[in-house]
Amino acid sequence: MQQSEPRNTRQAVALLRRAAAPEHRHLWHGTLWLLLAAALEALGPLLGKQLIDQHLMPRHLDLARMALLLGAIFAVGVSASVLRYYQLTRFAGVAMRSVRRLREQVYGHVLRLPIAFFDKAITGQLVSRVTNDTEQVKNLYVQVLFVMLDSSIVVLGAMAAMAWLDWRLMLIVLLLVPAAGVIVWFYQRASAPAVALAREKRSDINAQMAESISGMAVLQACNAEERFRTRFCATNEQHYQARVAELRANAWLLRPMLDLINVLLLVLVIYGFGLRQLAGIEVGILYAFVSYIGRVVDPLIQITLQFSQLQQAVVAASRVNTLLQEALPPAVGGTRRITQGQLSLRNLGFGYDPQHPVLRDLNLDIPAGAFFGVVGHTGSGKSTLLSLLLRFYTAQSGRIEIDGTPLAHFSDEDFRAHVGLVPQDPFLLGTSVRENIAMGRHLSDAQIETAARAARCHDFVMQLEQGYATPLGEGGARLSVGQKQLVAIARALAAQPRILFLDEATAHIDSETEQLVQLALNELRGRVTVIAIAHRLSTIRAADCIVVLNHGRIAEQGPHAALMEIDGGIYQRLYAMQQLAQ
Ligand code: ATP
Ligand code: MG
Repeated sequence: MQQSEPRNTRQAVALLRRAAAPEHRHLWHGTLWLLLAAALEALGPLLGKQLIDQHLMPRHLDLARMALLLGAIFAVGVSASVLRYYQLTRFAGVAMRSVRRLREQVYGHVLRLPIAFFDKAITGQLVSRVTNDTEQVKNLYVQVLFVMLDSSIVVLGAMAAMAWLDWRLMLIVLLLVPAAGVIVWFYQRASAPAVALAREKRSDINAQMAESISGMAVLQACNAEERFRTRFCATNEQHYQARVAELRANAWLLRPMLDLINVLLLVLVIYGFGLRQLAGIEVGILYAFVSYIGRVVDPLIQITLQFSQLQQAVVAASRVNTLLQEALPPAVGGTRRITQGQLSLRNLGFGYDPQHPVLRDLNLDIPAGAFFGVVGHTGSGKSTLLSLLLRFYTAQSGRIEIDGTPLAHFSDEDFRAHVGLVPQDPFLLGTSVRENIAMGRHLSDAQIETAARAARCHDFVMQLEQGYATPLGEGGARLSVGQKQLVAIARALAAQPRILFLDEATAHIDSETEQLVQLALNELRGRVTVIAIAHRLSTIRAADCIVVLNHGRIAEQGPHAALMEIDGGIYQRLYAMQQLAQ
């Protein structure tokens, strides 16, 4: 995604405006403290000049007045520090709250994006939008508002004071501006590639670490530890080298050059002062100029340096913005509620890519409370059918109705509450069994236990050391795959759905447990409409009707006994093969 600069900048500014909208008061206060602090800081050398010119040089040692001036210099310094503290906390607070707000907004948006978006999304990129890019947007605050504003005001204040003291000497100091520009240009040419490389290597380090942790079992089983360690060390070394190059540019170019400019300016100003002294100018001015020069060189370099930071932050902001512009699914404004759970498909057609249909012309009627099985070869479109029934995608042709009402007319909340899913790969959170079953739905312990008993997972849960409170580890790593499936079934049952979809819910459990799950499904008969996809035909043998999908079409349909009658039928063949395999 390449966008034009002005467009990026406009988007970044708009994004910042929105994120900082509630912060106006803090911004104004911060700026006010900043102005006051800068003014006080500019005042210090002027007072010093008074002390030198009126008392020290003429040896006019009026102790009371001198003490007053010294006291004033001290008071000005202390007040400036206190104001700096207030200004800093205000600006930092604005930046941190804005990034928090922005992160919440981005994450909230991602949570509501349609499932189709995640087919193409790359997890690492999305994560980096929410973490790194928002952080960079924060830099925009810290850099632009803070460093740039601060430095500009300090430089302007000092320049104004110098011009007021002696504008000719000030002109010498003004030479500094182009000099700073040139230095920064050189510095950036030397350091930019190193900075980019270091960043790239750091993300490689993260990626390798994450990959190794998630694949640790495979990695150790293949005896690949040494190979991974070598690869990691190589990347780590490259990162180190890039950082060293970056540091070298800093150490060689930036600091010494700054000092050189400082010294050059001092020499020039002292020389200029010598010439001007013939015209009767006093030594206090020299003191004031030396103080001011020390204060403007650094901020000026800072201002120039911020420009590249600014560019990166603008690019990050436009990336965040692009994500925020990602269209949400159309608001399903329906208010209908599921009462019976009767399903019907009419001429349903769908393809992830409309050119390549996955489901074609499906017609099916599923009475409320019926138990339907769906079978078919890998890739025949079974999971896709469930995704459509769950409203994750919208069909391109035909329609789906529940209780005679099109899917879109149901309220989101009611739909999700009454339609349960046990997905093909059970997704467990790293929290307790209880939370995995409840999924934030405020269920009582009794409800959770009832669901767990129905899904036949109560017994093994009780054997875990903390029962329902046992943490399951990332992705439910503490459980076997079959146990995970049982917990996922309990989760679906806990909501007491009217319609329940199971996608290969018995693929990984032993035959005995599978029979128990079959019993559980049978118990639902008449109360819950069940659609179960199964490769393992025993799971759905007892179904009221079995639908055989073939290349996205319904090839056969009927109860087990009827399908077995079809000579040379797909179901008959599948069944015979499974019998053989046992
Ligand atoms: P299995 O028994 O292996 O689970 P399935 O019948 O559930 O298979 P589906 O997952 O529905 O098959 O996939 C049907 C077809 O749609 C496949 O050809 C697959 O490549 C394609 N497909 C599935 N998901 C997507 C997706 N998110 N984007 C694009 N194509 C997809
Ligand atoms: Mg599938």
